[in-house]
Amino acid sequence: MNKEHDLIIIGGGVGGLTSAALATRAGLSAVVMEPRPLGGRARSPEVSGVPVDLGAHALYAGGAAEQILSRLNITLPLTAPPLDRGTLAMGEEFVRMPSSPFALLRSELPFRTKRALAMFLMFPPKPYATVREWLATITDDTARSIVAALVRLSTYDGDFLDADATPYAAQLKQSIDHGVGYLPRFSMLVDALRAAAPRVPVIRSAVAEVMNDGAVHTRDGKVMRAGHVILAMPAPDAAKLFSPLGPYAATARAIRAASLDVVLHGALPVPSRALALSTDRALYFTSRVTEHGDTVLHVLGNHVAGKKPSRQELESFLSEAQPGWRERVRGARFLSSITVAHKTPSPPPSHPRVSLVCDTTGDGMLCDAVMSSARHAIDHVLQRAERSRDALRKRVSRRSQNSSDARPPQSRALPPSSLLEDAVHRLRHADAPIHPTLTFWRRANFENGSS
Ligand SMILES: Cc1cc2nc3c(=O)[nH]c(=O)nc-3n(C[C@H](O)[C@H](O)[C@H](O)COP(=O)(O)OP(=O)(O)OC[C@H]3O[C@@H](n4cnc5c(N)ncnc54)[C@H](O)[C@@H]3O)c2cc1C
Repeated sequence: MNKEHDLIIIGGGVGGLTSAALATRAGLSAVVMEPRPLGGRARSPEVSGVPVDLGAHALYAGGAAEQILSRLNITLPLTAPPLDRGTLAMGEEFVRMPSSPFALLRSELPFRTKRALAMFLMFPPKPYATVREWLATITDDTARSIVAALVRLSTYDGDFLDADATPYAAQLKQSIDHGVGYLPRFSMLVDALRAAAPRVPVIRSAVAEVMNDGAVHTRDGKVMRAGHVILAMPAPDAAKLFSPLGPYAATARAIRAASLDVVLHGALPVPSRALALSTDRALYFTSRVTEHGDTVLHVLGNHVAGKKPSRQELESFLSEAQPGWRERVRGARFLSSITVAHKTPSPPPSHPRVSLVCDTTGDGMLCDAVMSSARHAIDHVLQRAERSRDALRKRVSRRSQNSSDARPPQSRALPPSSLLEDAVHRLRHADAPIHPTLTFWRRANFENGSS
C-alpha cells in the first residue's frame, strides 16, 4: 500500500491537471495517474507535422477558466478569432457576420432581421423553461436561426432546443460579452497547467477500480491509497471505475460532434471567409494561420438527434465557402464522433473521499466547467482538512481539561497555538518535514477519512 500522498488524481486531462495545479498551490501532495499522453481531449496531435487541436477549441473569456488561470499565475498567448472575416452561410449565400452592433447596422441582413437581432442582444428576454421557448421570443425567422446557430457555436450542442434555457443563455451571453481566445495550439493550456505542478508525479498506469474506502486498484495489480481520490474524466468513464457513480452517469447526455481538421499550404483560397457559420445546418468552420504562414482549418458538424454528419458533408460545406481548398491540402484528420461535453439533470452523489471532476460538476460549460469542478474538489479536500484540524483542536482542549483536575492551574493552558498553526502549515506545505503530532493526526484523521 502506498500512503505517500494527500491526493490521487485519476486522469491527466484539463480536469486532472487543474486539480494537480490547485492542489500544489494549496500545499497538498498529489499524484496523477494517466496511461496516455497528458491532455486528454485538449491535446493537439500533429497532422503532417503541424500541431492541430482535436476539433475547434477556444477559451471563453470572463468565466471560471480565466479566473483559475489567473489564480495560478498562468498567462496564455490568446488571440481573437477571425470574426472580422466571419460569414453567415445562409442557404447558398454568404453574408458578412455582424461581429459588433456597428457591423450589425451596416450588414446586408434585411432590416427586420437586424432590428430583431439588435433587440434580442440588447434586451435579452429572461430565459424561459426551454431553449425552444426562449428562442420563440424572436419573431423574425432569420434572426431566430442566427441566434440558434450562435447558441450551437458557443455550446457545441446540436440538440439544445428542449434543454433548460438558463445555462445556454448564460453561455451565449458570456461569449458575446467577453469573446473567446484562440491559442496557437490548445495543448498550450495543458503544458501550462503541468508546469504549474512540476513536482506532481505522473504514474503511467490505468486505473481499474476505485473502492468505496478510496483504495485505488491499477490495471497492473497495484493498490494505492491517499487521503482523497479525484476522478478527473467524464462521468460515464468515472462510473466504470467507481460504481456508486453508475446511476448518476446513466443520466448523462453526451454532446458529440464530427470534426474535420485540415492543414492547408499557405493562405485560405477565400481569405475574407476565415470563419463560416451555417444558419440552416449544424455546421461551421474556423481557421487560424500558423507561425509558418500555413492555415489550420476546423470544420465541425454537431451530431443532431444521434445523426453523425459524414466527412463528405463537412468537405462539401468547406468547398462552398472555400472553393479550391482541396488543391492546397497538406494533411487532414477526420473524427466522426468525438464527445465534447455531457449534460446531466442533477448533481452527482457526494462522497467524503472520492470527488468527480468533469464538466457536469462545475460552473458554466466546457473548460470553464471542468476547471471550476477541479476548484470545487480541492476546496472540498481543504475543508475536510480544516474540519479535522478543528476536531484535533477540540480533542486537545478536552484532553487538557481532563488532566487539569490532577494538575496545578498553570498547566491547564492549551498547547501553544503555534503547534496547531504548524500542523495546518505542514498539511498545506507537504514538502516540509512533518511534526510527530501531525504525522499521527494525518494518519488518524486524514488518511482514514474521518472528519
Ligand atoms: C471537438 C471539441 C471541441 C471543444 N471545444 C472546446 C472549446 O472551444 N472550449 C472549451 O473550453 N472546451 C472545448 N472542448 C471541451 C474540452 O476539450 C474538454 O472540456 C476538456 O478537454 C475535458 O477535460 P477532462 O480532463 O475533463 O477530460 P478528458 O480530456 O477526457 O481527460 C480525461 C483523462 O482521463 C484519462 N483516463 C480515462 N480513464 C482512465 C483510467 N482508467 N485510468 C487513468 N486515466 C484514465 C484519459 O486518458 C484522459 O486523459 C471541446 C472538446 C471537443 C471534443
